[in-house]
Amino acid sequence: MKAIMKTSKSRGAAYRDAEVPETSRDGLLIRVTAASISPGDLAMYNSAGPDWAPPFLPFVFGQEFCGEVVQIGSQAKGFDKGDFVSVESHIFCGVCGQCRNDQRHICRDLRVIGRDVPGGLAEYAAVPARCAWKHTDDSLKDIGAVMPPFGSAVHAVLSEDLVGRSVVVSGNAPHGLFAAGIAKAAGAKRVIALDPSPYRRALALRLGASTALDPADTDCLARLSRLCPEGADTVIEMSGSPRSVALGLKALRPGGRLVAFGLPAENLDLDYAGDIVKRGLRLEGISGREIFRSWYKMESLLKSGAVNPRPAITHHFKFKDFKKAFDLINSKEKKCGKIILTP
Ligand SMILES: [Zn+2]
Repeated sequence: MKAIMKTSKSRGAAYRDAEVPETSRDGLLIRVTAASISPGDLAMYNSAGPDWAPPFLPFVFGQEFCGEVVQIGSQAKGFDKGDFVSVESHIFCGVCGQCRNDQRHICRDLRVIGRDVPGGLAEYAAVPARCAWKHTDDSLKDIGAVMPPFGSAVHAVLSEDLVGRSVVVSGNAPHGLFAAGIAKAAGAKRVIALDPSPYRRALALRLGASTALDPADTDCLARLSRLCPEGADTVIEMSGSPRSVALGLKALRPGGRLVAFGLPAENLDLDYAGDIVKRGLRLEGISGREIFRSWYKMESLLKSGAVNPRPAITHHFKFKDFKKAFDLINSKEKKCGKIILTP
């Protein structure tokens, strides 16, 4: 088969022949029909740091994908050949205290498909059957690859009731675009999107944001204050930009909540006492999604039409043209939303 893989620890990737992976006894072999590029894939491609070095070489990466079941392990239950599935990338251990307390997404022994074990930027991928989500009809087939990030946005946004709330979504890369739509569907009074890219701000408005601002504008905080005179109730911080985190904290009302989702590349220099403690703010870290609890919620949001994530999908490329896709995401202008790659 052909696959996009890391062949060295340096930047970039290669499109090469690879062995079709073996199906484990409790696993499925999937013929991949589409994959989308995740932030983790981008970090792996850019080799941004030791956290994203491949576990071995050559390594097929890719954390977000869907496809057709073509082989079923002897002990895998609940699937038939020909089933269309999306893949949950978290492989949880099932026996640690976290897993036994219904927090499998922050399992102590968590492994991620495409980061710790081979992933889906390939014609075929082998996954544990418990990581597959079977579609019951074709209505979400065109967005099957983006369900994992949509699920993370569902988890981040619906971690608390937003009905009647003023919500700021900071960072309008795909997770933030999805979050804007989900916050609107969740009944937020207003959804303000923040992103330096005019292209992504325009997408955020299409997804459901009521206003979109450039966090780099010197009057951004003043404009946020005019839109939310009491301060924002919730900031969903998905950019990881230290400057945007600081801006988000200042935009919150006393007692407001910062949903911390974006991963800063460096430690933050915060006014911990002044901005957080004395203002009674709450910080909530969100990592991934609550496995299939988030999938059930997203299936409902998507099938009911409450949220339409499709405008966030801006580009499709063939696997062999993967460099064009990564170049586009890496470009300064960020003139893209979610990018889908197909074999
Ligand atoms: Zn566990």
